[in-house]
Amino acid sequence: MTTRSLPLTPDDILAIDQAHAWHPYSSTRDPDPVYAVRAAHGCRIELMDGRELIDGMASWWCVIHGYNHPLLNAAARDQLDHMAHVMFGGLTHEPAMRLVRHLVELTPAGLEQVFLCDSGSVAVEVALKMALQYWQAAGRPERHRLLTIRQGYHGDTFHAMSVCDPVTGMHQLFAASLPRQLFAPAPRSGFGEPCAPEDIAPLAELMERHSHEIAAVILEPIVQGAGGMRFYSADYLAQVRALCDAHDILLIADEIATGFGRTGRLFACEHAGIAPDILTLGKALTGGYLTLAATLASRRVADTISSGVPGAFMHGPTFMGNPLACAVANASIELLLADDWAARIRRIEAGLRTGLAPCRELPGVADVRVLGAIGVVEMNEPVAMRDIQRRFVEQGVWVRPFGRLVYLMPPFIVTDAELASLCAAMERVLGERGA
Ligand SMILES: *Cc1c(COP(=O)(O)O)cnc(C)c1O
Repeated sequence: MTTRSLPLTPDDILAIDQAHAWHPYSSTRDPDPVYAVRAAHGCRIELMDGRELIDGMASWWCVIHGYNHPLLNAAARDQLDHMAHVMFGGLTHEPAMRLVRHLVELTPAGLEQVFLCDSGSVAVEVALKMALQYWQAAGRPERHRLLTIRQGYHGDTFHAMSVCDPVTGMHQLFAASLPRQLFAPAPRSGFGEPCAPEDIAPLAELMERHSHEIAAVILEPIVQGAGGMRFYSADYLAQVRALCDAHDILLIADEIATGFGRTGRLFACEHAGIAPDILTLGKALTGGYLTLAATLASRRVADTISSGVPGAFMHGPTFMGNPLACAVANASIELLLADDWAARIRRIEAGLRTGLAPCRELPGVADVRVLGAIGVVEMNEPVAMRDIQRRFVEQGVWVRPFGRLVYLMPPFIVTDAELASLCAAMERVLGERGA
């Protein structure tokens, strides 16, 4: 007996996809073209039609060590021979405890209690629930609203969506079911600049006026990702921390995109020398192998929650602490730390600065900016995704823009030559568009 059906041809794959599969943010009546992938290795994605693409996306921030890495493969195989999964209720295991210890040791000081969960959005839900349960337990249930900054992105589940940018974040569509949160303007002071007083003033004023009902401030430290690919002042972040302290408001740092070196520091909070009360991690946590996320809390947050009613934190995903995912996460973290990762990021940063600089001169380009291993070309108008996607593939690179943003965030193992090819393709394709 065979447990495997016949392999699908590339045509089968595309036909089934067209007929039945939903892709991220996609239409079923007018589906975007998709490209079938045979395999991926290092910084390359191999299509079923034989073409090979240099990966400029790290599969949405995740694949920091490249695809098909021998050490991560070995960690997964080895764990598979022990157990792929076991429930976390009443049971514990080495892969999860090694990961918990890594996360407590590596993240900013004071984050001592780790909640493992399945995806970034769930980690954000867990963080928000922690903040709400904290104030319940502290006898201040009226503190249940969230304050955030515009242009943020925190995930697609409901409470996470309520703190995404109201314009790009689908608030219109779900207005009737979304909790209404408080929004300050996105900071305008750029990375490396001091925070202009008028930048922090609206946030300070909202805190002043609403502190009695605010549970927490949630934001992405330093880099706002999917909400606009913006880099902002570390001084601004430090001032947010100080304001939260002054008003006794919890600070939640969402480092799902920025965590594990992408911005040049292991965690973006380090740019401002601050520690949040609650931290969310995901994306690069497993080197892009498996879905896993974590929410860390300070001792004060954890113990306050546990001293309230019902005396426990009320969340428990089925796949909590999945051993396979934890084992790969440990291997990914150990691999990152074994290397001079900061030097790699500096090299990528320099390559992106040089390689993307010519894009500044192209018609239709509003801004070119680089921080760590993130390079962004912001256009004046939204790009035509289908055409531009096809043109990038024809140039032998995988770059997936959204809206007015065309950006690179390659695996950390990208070579100088691959980086130069990615940047050259950006210049060529965006140049055609403007021409
Ligand atoms: C991607 C992302 C999320 C959501 O993570 P998923 O794993 O897609 O649910 C949340 N916050 C930030 C900052 C992200 O970049």
